[in-house]
Amino acid sequence: MKLNILPSNPEENKEEKAVGPGRFPSWLHRKIPLGGEHFATDSILEKYRLNTVCEEAKCPNRMECYSKKTATFLALGKACTRNCGFCDIDFTKTPKEPEIDEPERIAGSVRELGLKHVVITMVARDDLPDGGAFHIAKIIDEVRKTNPGVTIEVLTSDFQGNYKAIDQVLEKRPDIFNHNIETVRELSPRVRHKATYDRTLEVLRYVKSQNKSSFVKSGIMVGLGETKEQVQETIKDLAEAGCDIITIGHYLQANIKKLTVKSFVSPEQFKDYEEYGYKMGAKHMYCGPFVRSSYNAGEIFQASSTISQESHV
Ligand code: SF4
Repeated sequence: MKLNILPSNPEENKEEKAVGPGRFPSWLHRKIPLGGEHFATDSILEKYRLNTVCEEAKCPNRMECYSKKTATFLALGKACTRNCGFCDIDFTKTPKEPEIDEPERIAGSVRELGLKHVVITMVARDDLPDGGAFHIAKIIDEVRKTNPGVTIEVLTSDFQGNYKAIDQVLEKRPDIFNHNIETVRELSPRVRHKATYDRTLEVLRYVKSQNKSSFVKSGIMVGLGETKEQVQETIKDLAEAGCDIITIGHYLQANIKKLTVKSFVSPEQFKDYEEYGYKMGAKHMYCGPFVRSSYNAGEIFQASSTISQESHV
């Protein structure tokens, strides 16, 4: 059954200020919303000294999301122990110790922002024995304690395939467990050299088998030179691994050191991928040029829950 949440309509952006090089096709130009709650969101995040993936990864949607008073928290620091070819988050060989009060600070900002659905992501912490799982579990606890009724989505690393670490997070029963496969099998060594395609599938399969989250979610970027068949294969693999929600968005190069965009994927192609995903048995597909794992995450959660409830009636 299809999700009734539409990604931003590229047609709406035609007369708006564009972000990105002028050589980009019209559907990859982004409307910059004016006004809204952008500054309020910024100042709350600053007050609680929090990092967001929105800022650190220079997400093209951040003005829109901040204007709607939503953001995705980046836990465990703002420098990552991996150096993936697509990701703009800083790399470090000497990460700082996790900040012990970060869970409380995130919980406080959730209350002040008035979030109903919270997305918590993390840098990969390969330096820590548990990959940062205990810290993520603590954040879930604190957010729930301070914000009863809130729903929680975690977007984690692969914890290097450490199932004990994954269990620590699953024991807190996040409403959505999200772990991105990012790209097709063939491009994985170049795009995310410290992760593997098969390990991601194993993690997703394991999470699904534990049945401790309402939804298992994963996502792909396109535009990195993959073929249509390779994307279809990835969608099929994700559906077979038990992913309930699959997101597909367009890769954009954040800075000159990062992988270049190899092709422009049209809105029609996104539509084809969406339809293919449903054919492969995925329950919820969310595809479009500006779709990101956490884009409209609360609305996706709501829509997915409604669809699931209806299918159980
Ligand atoms: S799509 Fe996600 S990462 Fe991007 S600005 Fe919105 S909440 Fe942040």
